[in-house]
Amino acid sequence: MTSDTSSSIPPRVVVVGSLNIDLVVGLERMPHPGETVFGHSLERHPGGKGLNQAVAAARLGVPVTMVGAVGDDGSGDWLRSVMSAEGIDQSGISTLAGTSGAAVIEVDATGANRIVVIPGANDLVDATVVADYIASSPDVGVVLTQGEVPMDVIVTAMRAGRARGAQTILNPAPAREYPRDVMDSVNFLVPNEHEAALMTGLEVGSTVDAVETAGEMTRWGVGCVVITRGERGAVWSTATNSGQVQAFRVHAVDTVAAGDAFCGGLAVGLVRGETLSEALRWASACGALAATKAGAVPSLPTLDEVQELLG
Ligand code: ADP
Repeated sequence: MTSDTSSSIPPRVVVVGSLNIDLVVGLERMPHPGETVFGHSLERHPGGKGLNQAVAAARLGVPVTMVGAVGDDGSGDWLRSVMSAEGIDQSGISTLAGTSGAAVIEVDATGANRIVVIPGANDLVDATVVADYIASSPDVGVVLTQGEVPMDVIVTAMRAGRARGAQTILNPAPAREYPRDVMDSVNFLVPNEHEAALMTGLEVGSTVDAVETAGEMTRWGVGCVVITRGERGAVWSTATNSGQVQAFRVHAVDTVAAGDAFCGGLAVGLVRGETLSEALRWASACGALAATKAGAVPSLPTLDEVQELLG
């Protein structure tokens, strides 16, 4: 970190993305069509890749704004209360008529799951609102988005971020048809191995393959491609250089949201003015720590935890 940013507030991370209420139903066995069964537990958790990544960044002590939409239902109020509790600025959140994004997750005694996702308000985010918001907000250092909002919103977020001189990060999850002409507005494209393979049709199994695939993806015009590889760490490539990021050795219990923690950590590393290799170490520490705890948002690490791991 440079000395002139260490005493001042870093610029803002703006996360354009989804917010979901996750309802997790525990039951002995899945019902057949038309059958009613008793479940034994019902838990409510915040979710959606946008909200997960906003929480990941906010816990690291930088200003974070979330841009997206919730419904005018009770879930929308609850999602707003989650953002308040995490210190996330919600001036970019619209409340729209209808349901909030939701996921109903049934988990049976064997651990098998069935998931129904209702995009709800996430599908109604308006690209014009997003463009105006990013253009008029002060101190935007990084704009971070994922694949759970409409494609025109993703494209607009990247272009508007770039137009005002922010660094832009696209986490292409889930894998979809991302238009190639957005890629020259993307500073960092951060797929996992599975998404990178689907987007390119290339192998990413070995480290050599992964580096080559990342290199191929930079030809789309992206500044830097980072392919995350779970406990094998990550590889990165720019047009002129490439390298590996080792994973931290941790006792992993549940890797849910490791990728979200990685993206939030990368955004924070960048707004703190870290070098590329330091920002990737931050991201890697966040991903590793998220793997040490169960769940998504409950597993996202704090600044103290990350600094301790970084040493
Ligand atoms: P996703 O959750 O999108 O599939 P990954 O599983 O690739 O993403 O994880 C993202 C990053 O989190 C990895 O690149 C790595 O830095 C870190 N990570 C994930 N799993 C582990 C693990 N078991 N041990 C250490 N680090 C991990």
